[in-house]
Amino acid sequence: MNEISRITVGRDTSLRQALATLDKAGTGLLLLAGAGGAFERTVTDGDLRRLLLEGCPLEGTLAALAHIRSVVIDQAFSRRQALDLMNQHAINHLPVVGPDGRVSQVLERREIDEQILLSTPHMGDTERDFVEEAFRTNWIAPLGPNVDAFERELAQLVGIGHAAALSSGTAAIHLALILLDVRPGDRVFCSTLTFAASANPIAYQHAQPVFIDSDEASWNMSPRALEAALESARRDNQLPKAVIVVNLYGQSADMDPIVALCERYGVPLVEDAAESLGARYKGRASGTFARMGIFSFNGNKIITTSGGGMLVSDDKALIERARFLATQARDPAPHYQHSVIGYNYRMSNILAGVGRGQLKVLGQRVESRRAVFHNYCAALADLDIFDWMPEPDWSYATHWLTACTLRPGLGIGSAEFIRRLAAELIEARPLWKPMHLQPVFAGSSYFADGDVSVSDRLFEQGVCLPSGSNMSETQIERVVDTIRKVLK
Ligand SMILES: *Cc1c(COP(=O)(O)O)cnc(C)c1O
Repeated sequence: MNEISRITVGRDTSLRQALATLDKAGTGLLLLAGAGGAFERTVTDGDLRRLLLEGCPLEGTLAALAHIRSVVIDQAFSRRQALDLMNQHAINHLPVVGPDGRVSQVLERREIDEQILLSTPHMGDTERDFVEEAFRTNWIAPLGPNVDAFERELAQLVGIGHAAALSSGTAAIHLALILLDVRPGDRVFCSTLTFAASANPIAYQHAQPVFIDSDEASWNMSPRALEAALESARRDNQLPKAVIVVNLYGQSADMDPIVALCERYGVPLVEDAAESLGARYKGRASGTFARMGIFSFNGNKIITTSGGGMLVSDDKALIERARFLATQARDPAPHYQHSVIGYNYRMSNILAGVGRGQLKVLGQRVESRRAVFHNYCAALADLDIFDWMPEPDWSYATHWLTACTLRPGLGIGSAEFIRRLAAELIEARPLWKPMHLQPVFAGSSYFADGDVSVSDRLFEQGVCLPSGSNMSETQIERVVDTIRKVLK
């Protein structure tokens, strides 16, 4: 390694030479090697300055340097280990030493401490303008022109009649269930492979969740399992008050058969499109297929207001009722009067400003996420160990997160794989843990897609890779290289 030999000095090197080498190298650090080339210690400009102050002449040699043992790291290091060692010793450089005792590389803190996260907020150019406008006009309170405009613009973008901007996607699901008159003891069907926020509102209403498996084709709700569950419920005279279908990781569920089943059994459908804004099913925007759809603008979603959600529907009365319930359900009276229980679920005018800016870049964000996905697929194709989340021909997925399963029999499971990436400061995550496996929903009914549970398998083998729309090519390369390294 040229770089290493360029900054390596011996005890016979003169102080003048050492200073000149350090000056040219620009590393702030020299490596002192013994006769056989084995690493002895690092030499900083501070060390050389102290020699001078102690009276060592410029023509004197580094033999005068104290014999100390510098901190080094073994070649099998992880970024996490290296960083911990640097922190522990308050140093910014760390020589990597091979079995021959020679330095193969010098790690620099700023080169290794960069963490690659799963999905981070990615602002466009206009969010700040909308927020500043809200400040300028003192529209800080909830409601206001940004809220109205955000609702209108989102509804237009996805092609639906009406939208209510809310404080979160979870609030939107909760209001949807209230609007469908879900009461204590009622049953509500819900995709099992999802984030807990899809199912928690069922519990808010003291209703009973029944969980439905995924299918292999889309990883989303299996129409076959849904049919089995509906048929069983009809026999027991316990049809659900609602079905919540979830579109995972930026991909729609197979909506045609799901909508048809719900119509056949007369059960209203709620579409949890928190993760699928910008996706399409047979050319039509995800989130627009059910009686009501919900979106989320939480910090990790494809676009974000830092926190927020939207309830959408073609039924104007439903959305008006949602706005009423979301603002404490005040009766139209001059005094404060309430006939039903209300909620404080409205989005603020400030956050809606962020949302308006984010909507403008949604198309770009979708393209970036899809590109990240296709980059991973291409760069890791030869390994032949990942099964990527399938994209059926009716789907246009955003790949909000790049999701895959690891083939079994690799000698490394998904948990260990994720742990090894974490040691390299790369955040990967398991797929959602299915709701029927959650302690909090223990004892709930579950309908698998046939004899084996698809969601159990997906959970066991599944991994989400860093997928941010603001990832650089270098970062994607680093993830790919690291994956190769940790699988060796
Ligand atoms: C994020 C998410 C939600 C909840 O949205 P919030 O805005 O965070 O409340 C609901 N369902 C799914 C599938 C999600 O991923």
